[in-house]
Amino acid sequence: MVYKVTLIPGDGIGPEVTNAAIRVLEATGVQFDWEVVEAGQKVIAEKGTPLPESVLESMRKNKIGLKGPLTTPIGGGFRSVNVSLRQMLDLYASVRPARSIAGEGTLYSDVDLVVVREATEELYSGVEHWVDRDHSAAETIGIVTRKASERIVKFAFEYALKEKRHKVTAVHKANIMKYTGGLFQEVAQKIAKSYPTIQFEERLIDNMAMQLVKKPQDYDVVVTTNLFGDILSDLCSGLAGGLGITPGAIIGADMALFEPVHGSAPKYAGQDKVDPVATILSGEMMLKYLGERKAAEKVWNAVYETIKEKRHVTYDLALPGYTSRPVPPSKCSEMTDEIVKRVEAS
Ligand code: NAD
Repeated sequence: MVYKVTLIPGDGIGPEVTNAAIRVLEATGVQFDWEVVEAGQKVIAEKGTPLPESVLESMRKNKIGLKGPLTTPIGGGFRSVNVSLRQMLDLYASVRPARSIAGEGTLYSDVDLVVVREATEELYSGVEHWVDRDHSAAETIGIVTRKASERIVKFAFEYALKEKRHKVTAVHKANIMKYTGGLFQEVAQKIAKSYPTIQFEERLIDNMAMQLVKKPQDYDVVVTTNLFGDILSDLCSGLAGGLGITPGAIIGADMALFEPVHGSAPKYAGQDKVDPVATILSGEMMLKYLGERKAAEKVWNAVYETIKEKRHVTYDLALPGYTSRPVPPSKCSEMTDEIVKRVEAS
């Protein structure tokens, strides 16, 4: 079978890291037909928008995509392309695993959790305005709906079942935000009753932030609303090795887009320098989503062994701070060569 996949190379370092992921994915023997569509800052001059209709059309048709990071233009009246993509395609579940990969420089070597975040509503809906003409006060409105809360909590439990995980922790601030937080809490408690084999617990967001830093090993699947999820998933990325190695996915009812958590890092664009692992592991998540579990395992093992061996790793994994055994940093393409070699040999 050949999988037709929408490929959005992205801005800045995007083309380098998506190219690395393609090489590794193709080395598994799984066949892909990549439909390349461009979005982001690079197309604004030509198309008048960072999100041309062709990108949405391709995603609606293929239902699956791999995406590099996009630069959000500062000023100029454009909304974040990432937020628009999620809302226009109703990609409601942001899934970000934080899993330690063999690095002694990470804060923890035994983190293995997944943050599932509602990605379409609440404080990122873009409903905001000045309260008065003098701009002395501003208001951002965060609407939480029963429908969106139900589907994200169900998603988290179904994900836990599918990935053989045993606990879901719902995170909110229902003691203070009694309506939005209270609704999310009520829905989570109700849905948890339908999944008796999965342990359920709740945490207030402030306590959760502290618990994650102290005992991340206690957590498995964490489900929460948009803003809290955005912050917690970056926190968890930091616990398990940083942005260079953290993959992600945004998933809807019948469609999924896989992308690294990091941004377009424009200062490194075209230097063949940055870590390709976050995008390669986003590809590994895509393989699992497609049911290609054996291929996904090959990719994970190849990445794990490459990082563990520390002979061909990019600057972020080679320098003091990540490792106590600093090594000369490899280029993005050299680290990719090593991962490809290991996948082909497995
Ligand atoms: P960034 O993630 O691009 O870069 C921050 C720093 O993280 C970099 O300077 C670099 O030191 C490090 N870094 C990032 N990716 C790395 C990699 N693969 N390997 C090694 N180190 C890496 O964040 P930023 O500078 O705040 O944002 C730059 C642009 O990216 C902005 O326009 C922002 O809106 C956009 N952005 C896009 C996405 C997305 O498309 N999903 C996500 C975040 C930021």
